[in-house]
Amino acid sequence: MISRRTIQIEQSVLEEVKMRENRAVIALSGGADSATMLYLAIATCHEVHAISVNYGQRHKKELECAKALCQELNIKHTIIDFDLTQFGGSPLVDFSMGVPAQADMKQATTVVPYRNSFIILLAAAYAKANNLNTIYIGATYEDLANYEDCRPVFFDAFENAARLGGTIHDLKIDTPFIDMTKERIIQLGHHRLSVPYEKTWTCYEGGDEPCMQCDACRERMEAFRLNGIYDPLISEDNWNAYIQNIEKNKYRKVEVKKNER
Ligand SMILES: [Zn+2]
Repeated sequence: MISRRTIQIEQSVLEEVKMRENRAVIALSGGADSATMLYLAIATCHEVHAISVNYGQRHKKELECAKALCQELNIKHTIIDFDLTQFGGSPLVDFSMGVPAQADMKQATTVVPYRNSFIILLAAAYAKANNLNTIYIGATYEDLANYEDCRPVFFDAFENAARLGGTIHDLKIDTPFIDMTKERIIQLGHHRLSVPYEKTWTCYEGGDEPCMQCDACRERMEAFRLNGIYDPLISEDNWNAYIQNIEKNKYRKVEVKKNER
């Protein structure tokens, strides 16, 4: 069931995007958020292109997902090679570092320095070369905590810089999910846009199956759980074990003092 409040949020997002004739390039990672944004853009934009960046990420599998999504939708998709492994600084691009579990509370250490800034600049260059006027970035409410270059003040500044630096005078950086949680994004994607989440990839580890421990996995699983639906990437047994574990941890054990006689 979609609540009245959620429908209002969705309509405001859709209407805002429809007001302008957007010729858009989508920064498509291949994850759940950017896939939802791709489907939103198709529903609302005049023209849609997508770029993905192969920055040497551990989870290259996301690029295959991005490619498959665009092929299915018949969207022009370009994978740009832009190697960030030379800098390292994050387990996503330095394979000698381990990916922390969410429980380790070390999410900040996974941030690839300036990765999102590079991606936006590449998208701006693509927009200029292809006569597009809008860059879509799938930054979410949760991203604000750890990614300095996923904040509204950064996007505003970058929009100005890109207008000046590339002479696209009406360039807009659109972040339709900046005030939305991942739970709301999955709700929009599942109920309104029919996003095939089985064709997306989120886990930082990039194995055959999601590790279910890293921060990316945990945030994604939580978003599906709060919507009352299975994450289609996870086997039924593993999903049920995850749910049971959450149920179990809902209750605190009460210490029973023994009667001392
Ligand atoms: Zn994972």
